[in-house]
Amino acid sequence: MSCDFLTLATPGVATLQPYQPGKPVEELQRELGLKDIVKLASNENPLGPGERAMEVLRRPKEIARYPDGNGFKLKARLAKYHGMSADRITLGNGSNEILELITRAIVQPHHEVVFSDHAFAVYPLVTQAVGAKPVVVQAKDWAHDSEAMAAAVTANTRLMFVANPNNPTGTWIKRNELTRLLETVPDHVIVVVDEAYFDYAVLPDYPDCSTWLDIFPNLLVTRTFSKAHGLAALRIGYSLSHPEIADLLNRVRQPFNVNALALAAAEVSIDDRKHIEKSIQANQDGMNLLTSAFDEMGLPYLPSAGNFVCVDLQRPGREIFNQLLRKGVIVRPVDNYGMPNHIRVTIGIEHENKKFIAALKKVLTS
Ligand SMILES: *Cc1c(COP(=O)(O)O)cnc(C)c1O
Repeated sequence: MSCDFLTLATPGVATLQPYQPGKPVEELQRELGLKDIVKLASNENPLGPGERAMEVLRRPKEIARYPDGNGFKLKARLAKYHGMSADRITLGNGSNEILELITRAIVQPHHEVVFSDHAFAVYPLVTQAVGAKPVVVQAKDWAHDSEAMAAAVTANTRLMFVANPNNPTGTWIKRNELTRLLETVPDHVIVVVDEAYFDYAVLPDYPDCSTWLDIFPNLLVTRTFSKAHGLAALRIGYSLSHPEIADLLNRVRQPFNVNALALAAAEVSIDDRKHIEKSIQANQDGMNLLTSAFDEMGLPYLPSAGNFVCVDLQRPGREIFNQLLRKGVIVRPVDNYGMPNHIRVTIGIEHENKKFIAALKKVLTS
């Protein structure tokens, strides 16, 4: 009996390429039998979670019970932290889930979704999954071209994704430019500003969009606990939006989309400024170390507002990625982002950064 289940796929799913995650350390251990492996591939916080979160996680409570499906306590904490009402907050299984929920809630196959070239891979994925038309706007110097993005909007556009800063490029849109974009985009387009790296983006012209919801009701801001908060494995993120948009997201999410450990850890993480400050400092130190090394090696790189940097190796990045694996260093090739000569490196702690630089020097001179 022959089956061809692939033909059952909806048109969008039929041509969908699954998300490619960073290579897990254990996988490389299994494959090469290496012991000492450094993973700088998924933009996690190399310091891990803060002490407060760890304390909560060491004493988990009520595992036999379903979590609070409405996340009441965490939403109350977030509402206080952001100085807004809790009905603007939606919790997600990672902020990735929010990106999917908003797409499922409002985008139909005849609609268009606008995002930039070299932008986060999840935007095309969620667009294609609902069978809608991706409108990929050409980047300018690897960064979002906000004027071109505004110009790409049509009557059929429902959604625009703006990654600020963007992954994998690390580029960011300045305050004035983002205001202008939001002023230009009509209200039938929901603009998602993905601020996954918000805490790391300590630059004077970097905008905090969370304070703009009253001015731009069609704005949806996403944040995550996966990056600076060091809780990537727990899968928790959230969005801030108009309450009516939050209501739509609430209709399509699963009843218990965020687990109890994630809720508990996020509650104590959100205002753990000490850990965030420490993480920012470590990131800046590591960024300086890596970029100085690139300068010394004559390798151009993209200035980054995140906890990662894209370096131009001026030869196929995937080959160098493979050679680095053999030296126990996992980075991220970005050829699938239309950047064949770059690799993306997450800023690690000092010994990780040094191990990467030493390995890169060896690989490039061999
Ligand atoms: C890492 C990342 C996210 C966060 O994903 P989570 O699902 O919250 O772990 C979102 N957007 C971008 C651009 C990212 O790089």
